[in-house]
Amino acid sequence: MNFANHVDFAARNGPTRPAVGDANGLRTYEELARETDRMANALERLGVEPGEWVAICLQNRLELLSTYLGAMKRGAIPVPINTQFSDQQIEYILETSDVSVLVTDEQWAAVATTVDSPVTVDGSVGDRFDRLLEESEDEYELRPRRSDEIAEVLFTSGTTGRPKGVQHTHGNLEANAQGIRKHMEWTRHEVGLTVCQCFHVTGLNVTTTPLLVAEAENRLLPEWDPEAALAAIETHRVTYSFLTPGMIIDLLGFERADRYDLSALERVGVGGSPMPSERLDDAERLLGCPVLEGYGMTETTPLAAFNPATGERRKPGSVGPPAREVIELRIEDLETGTPVSPGERGELLWRGDTVAPGYVQFQRARQRYVERDGTTWLRSGDIGWLDEDGYLHIVDRREDMFTTGCANVFPREIEKTLYQIDRVVEAAVIDVTDDLSGALVTAVIERDGTDLTAERVKAECRANLDDHEVPQRIEFVDDIPRTATGKIDRVQLRGSF
Ligand code: ATP
Ligand code: MG
Repeated sequence: MNFANHVDFAARNGPTRPAVGDANGLRTYEELARETDRMANALERLGVEPGEWVAICLQNRLELLSTYLGAMKRGAIPVPINTQFSDQQIEYILETSDVSVLVTDEQWAAVATTVDSPVTVDGSVGDRFDRLLEESEDEYELRPRRSDEIAEVLFTSGTTGRPKGVQHTHGNLEANAQGIRKHMEWTRHEVGLTVCQCFHVTGLNVTTTPLLVAEAENRLLPEWDPEAALAAIETHRVTYSFLTPGMIIDLLGFERADRYDLSALERVGVGGSPMPSERLDDAERLLGCPVLEGYGMTETTPLAAFNPATGERRKPGSVGPPAREVIELRIEDLETGTPVSPGERGELLWRGDTVAPGYVQFQRARQRYVERDGTTWLRSGDIGWLDEDGYLHIVDRREDMFTTGCANVFPREIEKTLYQIDRVVEAAVIDVTDDLSGALVTAVIERDGTDLTAERVKAECRANLDDHEVPQRIEFVDDIPRTATGKIDRVQLRGSF
């Protein structure tokens, strides 16, 4: 089994069907199969051995996908790197993993010079991408891989510390892609739009690899831009996309959104961070289709839970039932580690086909994997509970929880109240330590106009929350900072107050 084989299956089943497109072109499945064969040959010529890393530092574009699949055909391990990492961070990864090939473009030319065989798209350093492919044969006998062999390495978002490199096996990729395809009930007539970056699970494994397994069409956008996304949905008659909550909030604030014909959209997925359920109705009205919230981690490839794709069974405020065909959930008490009773909150632990076997060696992050009843589980660091219908609700990250006096505060619970206040666009709650009073519950709010005052926010919170949850400090900002994968950047926020 080699996950990259899916491109060859698709090319046999429908050679002329559109596979993937970006602003510069469109590849049919046959063209993608040939291009990835060329890439596998090129990498072999550059001396890449099976099991070695091939680093890719590019925003979403065709070359990223052909390198990714070409490296896999060679039996090598594609490692898409976050384009927002600093040069030092990238160099550290390349050096510690002994990477000899980096495929990138002019923007990272300086980093490219640090590896033996740089390949650049539109660039001046090393081999030119298109020339390298032209000089390579378009037939390659793909290297078979076992399902427990590593297929790719993807980095976590780095929301709570240094980003961690997660190793996904071919089996993880298969379970995840088949799981999402079945869950979404995709046929090969689906047209997907990838707006999240392919250096993260959201872009790569929520849309791109499952669409490939479905033998469907995938349109790539290089970066997030509400207008470009809406225009792409209209032009390509996009039926599915996956967005982060921040992107949905951007779309809701985008004045010209109603000028686009979005009628082909059948469903939109959302996840990666909490979706304010107070905005779901507006989002469904704007997009004209169900918006389904899901939950996952880089460590779960990421399929872990998703709201059902059809019918009225989706539940606002919940991330849906755990994806039982691929994963098992255990919820345990935060202090004792014993399983909680139904309906009670605890930390989420996962095991199953989509759970990655571990992190890259040099990061020693193994403490996330723990033994329970003789088997290995992944500790998520997230707190949640299952309702009477078996739907999962995420409370917050364990690390974001803080204490004031002797009571626990879950920022997300307060944020929910803030989202119900008129003129709140986006909200984040953090603890800001004050020398005199200790941790102060601080609400950071992006508002629409200046009518909304701190007094009103406090009054609404007093009416809806426990005393210890009412923010003592309110800060209005123009923009709430987000990380490269669209999460609220709490570290930066804490540093600004
Ligand atoms: P790092 O592990 O490096 O600190 P990260 O956890 O943000 O960063 P990712 O793997 O990209 O890295 O994100 C997974 C996390 O995102 C989950 O553990 C969870 O905290 C959060 N998450 C994902 N989907 C949802 C959701 N629907 N609701 C709430 N939180 C979510
Ligand atoms: Mg994490």
